[in-house]
Amino acid sequence: MNLKELYQEIILEHGKNPKNLGKTENFNKDAKGNNPLCGDNVHVYLKLNDKKIIEDISFEGSGCAISMASASIMTDLVKGKNLTIAKEIIEDFLGMIKEKEELNTKNLNDDEKTKLMCLSGVKQYPMRVKCATLSWHTLVSAFENKKTEVNTEN
Ligand code: ZN
Repeated sequence: MNLKELYQEIILEHGKNPKNLGKTENFNKDAKGNNPLCGDNVHVYLKLNDKKIIEDISFEGSGCAISMASASIMTDLVKGKNLTIAKEIIEDFLGMIKEKEELNTKNLNDDEKTKLMCLSGVKQYPMRVKCATLSWHTLVSAFENKKTEVNTEN
């Protein structure tokens, strides 16, 4: 199995059986996102405790395999991490998906980085980049508890 096949396999697996699907009990932050070009919708819920740690995180939504896999991988990677670190991971991911070759973060182990790099295949397709980044922009919006929906076209 080459790297490309491995990446596709991980995406398909997360797309079919997303992790952290549902609504976090006692969430204290949430936000919605919409990618009208593809029809992807996501609602991210999280519980940030007084130590600024993402105690729990989940999402509800529907859309293409890339958008669902990306939300699944994202929630999986930031769960249990502190807010500052989570923000660094988000910034690193968005940078990688837009232009950088590699991830620079020291906050993820190799296994976790592989999961994120799976999504790097969308780079050359601007439409798919929106699918992959939707949940991430929505998470940033949830941190700020923004009430307006994230829209990839705005
Ligand atoms: Zn999509």
